[in-house]
Amino acid sequence: MKQKFFKIDSKIQAAADEAMKQIQPHFAEIDEITEYNQLKMLSAFIENGVSESMFAESTGYGYGDRGRETIDKVAASVFKTEDALLRHNFTCGTHTLAVALYGMLRPGDLMLCVTGTPYDTIHSVIGIDGKGDGSLADFGVKYEQVELKDGKPDLDAIEKAVKEKSPKLVYIQRSRGYSLRPSLSCEEIGEIVKVVKANSDADVMVDNCYGEFTQTIEPSEVGADVIAGSLIKNAGGGIARTGGYIAGRADLIEKISYRMTTPGLGREVGATLGMSRELFMGFFNAPHVVGEALKTAVFTAALFERFGFGTTPTSEDKRYDIVQSVMLENEENLISFCQGMQKGAPVDSFVVPEPWDMPGYDSQVIMAAGAFTGGASIELSADAPLREPYAAWMQGGLNFHSAKMGVMLAAQEMGLGG
Ligand SMILES: *Cc1c(COP(=O)(O)O)cnc(C)c1O
Repeated sequence: MKQKFFKIDSKIQAAADEAMKQIQPHFAEIDEITEYNQLKMLSAFIENGVSESMFAESTGYGYGDRGRETIDKVAASVFKTEDALLRHNFTCGTHTLAVALYGMLRPGDLMLCVTGTPYDTIHSVIGIDGKGDGSLADFGVKYEQVELKDGKPDLDAIEKAVKEKSPKLVYIQRSRGYSLRPSLSCEEIGEIVKVVKANSDADVMVDNCYGEFTQTIEPSEVGADVIAGSLIKNAGGGIARTGGYIAGRADLIEKISYRMTTPGLGREVGATLGMSRELFMGFFNAPHVVGEALKTAVFTAALFERFGFGTTPTSEDKRYDIVQSVMLENEENLISFCQGMQKGAPVDSFVVPEPWDMPGYDSQVIMAAGAFTGGASIELSADAPLREPYAAWMQGGLNFHSAKMGVMLAAQEMGLGG
């Protein structure tokens, strides 16, 4: 049925129709992964006896909160780990990853990142930029990294580094984040883990942000000792308004729980304040919403390829995260892309995004976001630094039908309809 709500140039509509035909096989694959993960989730809810009474709020210390205790168990079941912590108290992905790192590392330990330079916000946590504000470096935790080789983990260099330096913790970032390297599959992460475990006693931690539920397995199923991510990305299903999760080996999760609150108290405290229902509901919906975001990403790639733009990943590539970058060639295109996408947002559609000097960036950045949850990048959103290669990174889409229109409006605003 032809939609009658948005005026789309016929050239863009035709390209979108062609793109849809091209990507049907990928949609079928995404549906299979989604169904598998959704049933994994449903069975975890059933197995752990999730009940309505668990949505009740606790206040104060939050002792004995059954909702809090049970959602940890559900997360452990889904991620196939011995234990997990899934909380609204984690303020964002960076905080969640930091709690895991501080929980596991001690003065004198070496953290070795084997996937090149980690995500920007982690630099301050590690102390790469050398500020004395309580970073891991301030506490005497050492840091080194193994660079990627042609955008891929360099297994030989990893083996050598692990043998020579005996790290306490090996750190892997699954998603491309805002770089142009490919994201890692769980199979590739498994290869790294094998090399690390064969040559050291190091624990392996994976930054799983943007990666959850894009495959039928998670990094924890290929040997990662701890995985962590944000609930305003994949794992919160677009419903959780804040939070994060950490899943992994029981002894490590216990240590991490002492950093999450305090030594002695660990996981036994933490009022849920009525948040449990949306955490359960969001986590439950996550596999489905990730499927919608993946479809949006594949469609975006296919549509912009038709207009001659470079994409990473391409519409035909396998995907291990929800991030899509489109090389838009110049500043004007970047700005129009973001402004057009904003026009198709359910919230703040009337806002016109402008480039601004974002702290920590060496060029201006423009962003499109019209989300129900502030900064939630599981909702359709785009960021673009105004510099070579003029790439827009977009991700999310709570439901494909709506996100598809956002992407078409981005193309239209760029004048691709002629
Ligand atoms: C988003 C992200 C983070 C940090 O999460 P925030 O919620 O923005 O703090 C870390 N690593 C990767 C790969 C991410 O995508």
